[in-house]
Amino acid sequence: MKYFLAIIGGGPAGYTAAEKASKAGKDVVLFEQSSLGGTCLNVGCIPTKSLLYGAKQYYNATHAQKYGVTAENVAFDFAAMQKRKTIVVRKLVAGIKQRLNNEHCTVVNGFAKVESRTDECVTISCNGETYEAENLMICTGSTNFVPPIPGIKDNPAVWDSTDALAAAELPKSIIIVGGGVIGMEFATLYHELGVPVTVIEAMPTILPNLDPEVVALLAEKYKKAGITILTGTKVESLDGGKVTANGEVYEAERVLVSVGRRANLNGLEALNELELNRGAIKMDEFCKTNLPNVYACGDVTGKIMLAHVAARQAEVAVGRMLKQIPLQRIAYNAIPSVVYTNPEIASVGITEAQAAEMSIPVEVTKLPMTFSGRFMAENEGETGLCKVITDAKNHSILGVHLIGNPCSEFIAAASFAVRMGYTTAEFQQVVFPHPTVSEILHEAI
Ligand code: NAD
Repeated sequence: MKYFLAIIGGGPAGYTAAEKASKAGKDVVLFEQSSLGGTCLNVGCIPTKSLLYGAKQYYNATHAQKYGVTAENVAFDFAAMQKRKTIVVRKLVAGIKQRLNNEHCTVVNGFAKVESRTDECVTISCNGETYEAENLMICTGSTNFVPPIPGIKDNPAVWDSTDALAAAELPKSIIIVGGGVIGMEFATLYHELGVPVTVIEAMPTILPNLDPEVVALLAEKYKKAGITILTGTKVESLDGGKVTANGEVYEAERVLVSVGRRANLNGLEALNELELNRGAIKMDEFCKTNLPNVYACGDVTGKIMLAHVAARQAEVAVGRMLKQIPLQRIAYNAIPSVVYTNPEIASVGITEAQAAEMSIPVEVTKLPMTFSGRFMAENEGETGLCKVITDAKNHSILGVHLIGNPCSEFIAAASFAVRMGYTTAEFQQVVFPHPTVSEILHEAI
């Protein structure tokens, strides 16, 4: 049998594509070497959020006095938190399996290797069997990057994020190398559970890609709370849990290395004409590679390593493959992103600095989150910020940057405004429910 589409990788890109193409009545085979759901579901977004939620419950219980609540003998059971995390993941993986079954998609559990390709047929081997398809979609994701720092390889004290998520016990102390998204989310988890945390970041600030004012508020709070944050500090070498950086030695039981991820190209060696861009697969606006019947979606494209981007890329790519009219494109200018620190950070669109780089004249509006009644009611002693970037000429909304709980839950409203190119006058016609923290958008825009 010749399939219409073969998909390698069952993460958010792969399973979204499989479901959409199968729903359209096409024969689809999806290969997954591990568990459906990919990094996001198994060793990324979902397990981290499950553990972070447990940590937040503990932290809130031990910091409840400010709301007039005293909780005594508050304790946590890390093994129970881990068990719950595993159950959440298992249920969601089963859900994806069920969805693909419902659409009669063939799922093959094993490592898939591309054997050959012509414009008419891609041949793939897996578990000793051979499969043929008209089209191939590469959704092989990414793996943790191990930087070439002396002493990092085969060092038993070193963890990557997958090791950290699997650990049966909390570390007694931890140094986190890389103050990016992964680094700061784990810093939050460990700090809230009472583990001494040191973050070492090479750039002048943690979370260097985000709005600096928003990041400064987080850094200030975390430093006050006792997290050591060393910025502009490059790690030179490791020896067990001893980390030498800028000539100083820092020590902890564990060292979590979170300095980025790299595209996973394993099994694709036969596609020797596939064009790459800085180690990731080059694709066009429809996720089509330079090879006519080969598409690539998700982290393997190195574009924006976020699960929701991967899923949207898959929808667009399948639409293109099925020649659906009108052809959809991805609004890369309106991709929301969230960092699950406490408080959360959420943003969409360009920052002030990016506007300046692009020579776009902008107006910037800033409002403290404390303008929101609901924020005041539920965030005693906390600060927060809403920053809106608008085009100075036509007043369209170009970017929104937020810090303050629970901004992850309403950044989508701002994404919608950026995606649709709404002006401030158009956005002002939207009614926000009162009292909600989301009203801050209404106040600021
Ligand atoms: P990242 O690129 O976000 O951060 C890596 C950080 O490490 C950067 O700030 C960089 O300056 C720093 N760094 C690099 N080399 C260093 C060195 N030698 N010493 C000290 N610092 C160094 O990468 P990440 O945090 O590993 O995350 C990987 C990917 O996963 C990202 O694309 C991220 O967006 C995604 N992710 C997203 C979420 C989310 O959406 N909430 C959560 C986790 C991961």
